[in-house]
Amino acid sequence: MSFRASVLTLYPEMFPGPLGLSLAGRALERGDWSLEARQIRDHGIGRHRTVDDTPAGGSPGMVLRPDVLADAVDAASPPGDGRPRLLMSPRGRPLDQALVRELSAGPGVLIVCGRFEGVDERVIEARGLREVSIGDYILSGGEMAALVLLDAAVRLLPGVMGNAQSGQTESFENGLLEHPHYTRPALWEGRAIPPVLLSGNHGAVEAWRREEAERLTAARRPDLRAARHVTKT
Ligand code: SAH
Repeated sequence: MSFRASVLTLYPEMFPGPLGLSLAGRALERGDWSLEARQIRDHGIGRHRTVDDTPAGGSPGMVLRPDVLADAVDAASPPGDGRPRLLMSPRGRPLDQALVRELSAGPGVLIVCGRFEGVDERVIEARGLREVSIGDYILSGGEMAALVLLDAAVRLLPGVMGNAQSGQTESFENGLLEHPHYTRPALWEGRAIPPVLLSGNHGAVEAWRREEAERLTAARRPDLRAARHVTKT
């Protein structure tokens, strides 16, 4: 059974978009995962297929209606579907590699993409939508956030990433940022590759990489380090 993604959106044309190319695109063609983009407006109200209305209490902008969204969710994810239901939202749990791993190990995801001012609070509660944020900034819609989440999840699916080992030392996998990389030419604009990397001594290479990862993490992301020590004890 392969990973199934259903995305509820007002802009289904945005999918698969970049996920139709490269690693994710080839995996999609192989059937390692599937993607359906469903038009929320198909569940809209009346002749105009209305999906939104003005905010209760008054304020500028529009809010997606709970009845319309609930219909769209129910049609895409019948009872027993088993996939987590996510809502892309700046108020959500920040997306990190641990959540990406958890999602990619499961049967797939249903993702609701908000637009305008967001969605009616009641549908979040009634349909058990887990809010997920991709960072502390405001996008104009959830679609690009969904693409980010899916890209991160799909590359972890078995067989998708060419070199499985490159997943292990990658940034965030062990509470560390990754060590620097070098390739040919050995000397470029007067800059040499660190000699240890050309020494052929695998132990020394490993030790150097570990030290560099520690150094970079301490300098740039002490928060990652702190979290690693907490989870280790
Ligand atoms: N008024 C809202 C922002 C709405 S932005 C607020 O202040 O919190 C419109 C939609 O874009 C949201 O419903 C959400 O689906 C999406 N979105 C915006 N920023 C996002 C982020 N950082 N992460 C995930 N989704 C985001």
